[in-house]
Amino acid sequence: MARDGVPHALLFAGIDGIGKTTAARALAMVLNCQAPLPAGEERPWPDACGRCRSCRRIAAGLHPDVIQLQPEGAFFKIGQIRSLLDVLTLRPYEARYRVVILRDAQAMTTAAANALLKVLEEPPDRTILVLTAGGSSDLLPTIVSRCQAVRFAPLDPDRIAQRLVENDGLAPQDATVVAALAGGSLGRALALARQGAVAHWRRRRDWLARMLSTLPGQGPSTVLAVAEELARDGRRAGESLELAKTWLRDRLVALQRPELVVYADRREDLCRSARQAADRNRCLFQIRRLQEAQRALEGNGAVRLTLESLFFDLARGDGKAAGGN
Ligand SMILES: [Zn+2]
Repeated sequence: MARDGVPHALLFAGIDGIGKTTAARALAMVLNCQAPLPAGEERPWPDACGRCRSCRRIAAGLHPDVIQLQPEGAFFKIGQIRSLLDVLTLRPYEARYRVVILRDAQAMTTAAANALLKVLEEPPDRTILVLTAGGSSDLLPTIVSRCQAVRFAPLDPDRIAQRLVENDGLAPQDATVVAALAGGSLGRALALARQGAVAHWRRRRDWLARMLSTLPGQGPSTVLAVAEELARDGRRAGESLELAKTWLRDRLVALQRPELVVYADRREDLCRSARQAADRNRCLFQIRRLQEAQRALEGNGAVRLTLESLFFDLARGDGKAAGGN
């Protein structure tokens, strides 16, 4: 933008709920703002004012030259792309730059993608296309090669937690749990917070934390009871495993870098338990087994069986004796 050289086709790639469409709309705003804020030392690019007529209409989704399309049902229909192409033969109504946002572009049939290819090859004047997708590997290579890709990394859990506290009024101890479950996606964090089950997940986390330290050496009946408790959530048991994994990860960083702890509300406990036991290897083993179990659950593995096998391994302790891996 600073060089007046925005590519005519951009691909924003990254997980859901991370701000790809928001960023595309922000780009449309700054390209069309009537009173843009100039670049400065703090921010070496211009920014939209957010207040002018153009900014307000784009923010409200009412600007005729900022077009947002998403799949109808599971896929983009060829008709959707054809009507878009018709619109693009006309000049923009009023915008300096017309911006077309194609959400979830990986959900394009080959026919739809090929139709879109024409626009990418001969871009209309003053028009910028922004495609969003989970990853560039899901798209036709011919599409990818004509776009400039921008990768969106998952957000830090502590930044998500901070935003939940400051903007959404969550208590800090709830925000850290939601952030840990969100896997770097603010959209997912907000959805979790809205579901009103945060207290449940916080209790679940604290129970898991106790269980992780007391389970080694316990007999089969305890192990089976733990597996049974988590199996009640069905496939969502993976979320409990995510909570446990974050706890262990926190324990690994608590001594060296306590400021990086995600569960900031339990920082003191984490530091204490990390100091007590020289259990780095055990932590790493447990994290690896939790990841394996999560993958098994995602891959439609049997829930109860996966959890039982996981917790028997965790109860066995250091990992050296576990299953030969
Ligand atoms: Zn503006």
